[in-house]
Amino acid sequence: MALRFIADSMLGKLARWLRIMGFDTLYFSSISDPELIKRAREEKRIILTMDARLALTLKKDKCVFLSHSDPYQQLKYLVKEFNLDPWSNLFSRCVYCNELVEKIKDKSEIKNKVPLHPFNSNSSFYRCPVCGRIYWEGSHHQKIKTIIKSLVS
Ligand SMILES: [Zn+2]
Repeated sequence: MALRFIADSMLGKLARWLRIMGFDTLYFSSISDPELIKRAREEKRIILTMDARLALTLKKDKCVFLSHSDPYQQLKYLVKEFNLDPWSNLFSRCVYCNELVEKIKDKSEIKNKVPLHPFNSNSSFYRCPVCGRIYWEGSHHQKIKTIIKSLVS
């Protein structure tokens, strides 16, 4: 089964990056430790935390303590630690909701929801079923890939 994560409230940027790579990652900007632990247990998620005190109270296989405050270093550490494959499910998840995005079958249905240039130059669009955000391949994808390459090399 694919690894699933829950990030503590300090790790918003890391959570977004994990979602970009397609990893199921819960994040709440405000969540109590007991609630965080409860959600992790119920949904079999690994807790990601910068709180050393919290990490000490939990078993190693249920929690990862991140000592770096830089999200890229955190990401690099996780990719190595769990041997994560950042490429297979890249861009499969909504960065904001953690939901899997769905391919839009007929792009004409989003004609008025996307700027003209990406609309005309792309054939594949994806929509988050929760928030309705529309995703497409753009120049930001190249930037993201470059960053990931630099992290995993
Ligand atoms: Zn969404």
